[in-house]
Amino acid sequence: MNEHPTEASRLKRELERLQRQLTIFYEISNAMLTTLNLDEILYIILTGITSHAGIGLNRAMLFLVNRAKNTLEGVMGIGPGSGEEARRIWQFIETSRMDLNDLIAQYKHSRRVADSKLNQLVKNFEISISPENGILAKAVLDGTLKHIRPPESEHYRNDPLIKELGSEEFVVVPLKAHDRIVGVILADNIFSGHPITDEDIKMLTMFANQAGLAIENSLLYQQALLRAHTDSLTQLWNHGYFQHKLDELLKEHQEKQHPLSLLLIDIDDFKRYNDEHGHQKGDEILKNIAKILKDHCRNIDLPCRYGGEEFALILPDTGKSEALNIAERLRKTVEEAGLPTLSIGVATFPDDATTKEELIELADAALYRAKRLGKNQVQNPDSQ
Ligand code: GH3
Ligand code: MG
Ligand code: MG
Repeated sequence: MNEHPTEASRLKRELERLQRQLTIFYEISNAMLTTLNLDEILYIILTGITSHAGIGLNRAMLFLVNRAKNTLEGVMGIGPGSGEEARRIWQFIETSRMDLNDLIAQYKHSRRVADSKLNQLVKNFEISISPENGILAKAVLDGTLKHIRPPESEHYRNDPLIKELGSEEFVVVPLKAHDRIVGVILADNIFSGHPITDEDIKMLTMFANQAGLAIENSLLYQQALLRAHTDSLTQLWNHGYFQHKLDELLKEHQEKQHPLSLLLIDIDDFKRYNDEHGHQKGDEILKNIAKILKDHCRNIDLPCRYGGEEFALILPDTGKSEALNIAERLRKTVEEAGLPTLSIGVATFPDDATTKEELIELADAALYRAKRLGKNQVQNPDSQ
């Protein structure tokens, strides 16, 4: 019946191969859709490229374009640090029969990626995007995939990254989103020494389009979130975010039994200032005071615009006396800058209150007392 058995088995093999590719592509695409967390997306992309159940290349590294700085920055690298480690990992995956989904699920539990030598090397990489800065910069500029093999790789002996990686054969794939290059992936087979095949390249290209869009979506989502949480006049956190973070932080501090302090800050006689100088000058004052507030913060603190001319400052891991010092310094700085003065109420968890509502209420009561006692001063629940 069958006149071409070899042709039939060739077609069968081809079909199986295509089916395998489709499965990988499907699994990775699905996994990318489950999250908008950038780190998680990057991990999924790189796992798809390196895992045995995926494309199966030895190492993959991802670099993102920073448009504001016109630089390319390394963000994540996945792959063993040595041939020995590679064999151990492959054996482990083989014996534990992990598929792509198992590997992706590992992300949340594993610090291995973050701590790996390759990841550190990639994270320390930053270049400005210009043609003399090596093959990655070129790939961003011309937007084309580059498959480099010996003897051509000789030309890249002095490329700082390639030299460090020791790659003889590698592929650089630009990641596109709506005709814009958002980053590049570099992958190689340094440990197995297998050549990178046309099939690998085809899969990488399909991946790259998907990955570029997933990364762009995640970045847009982060930007939108940031905007939704930011007050547009002062660029401080807005009231909604203040409430959300205070809740979250209080739970955390309850668990680790650390103190947390809250400052509620109100500008003194601001109505009069507006009446005398106009609303626009008033807005300038709000911006200036917001800037001073930010400059007084550690990066774990949360400076917020609580309401019209009221601010809040959440101080994690901060006890009462330290918070009172910070409040007093802030009050003094604003006074010495010749700006309208501040009245500040301070309350501390757990000394004064254990719930969010109570903490805000006590800080507000202290602020009210500061007003009553003549303004331009700091008060707390102990000082009555
Ligand atoms: P006190 O010392 O008791 O706080 O007096 P005050 O005048 O600051 O208090 P009051 O609450 O009576 O008035 C607050 C004023 O803050 C009223 C309003 O014109 C001004 N204000 C609130 N939000 C803004 C804003 O976004 N821009 C400007 N320019 N003024 C604002
Ligand atoms: Mg007020
Ligand atoms: Mg006021």
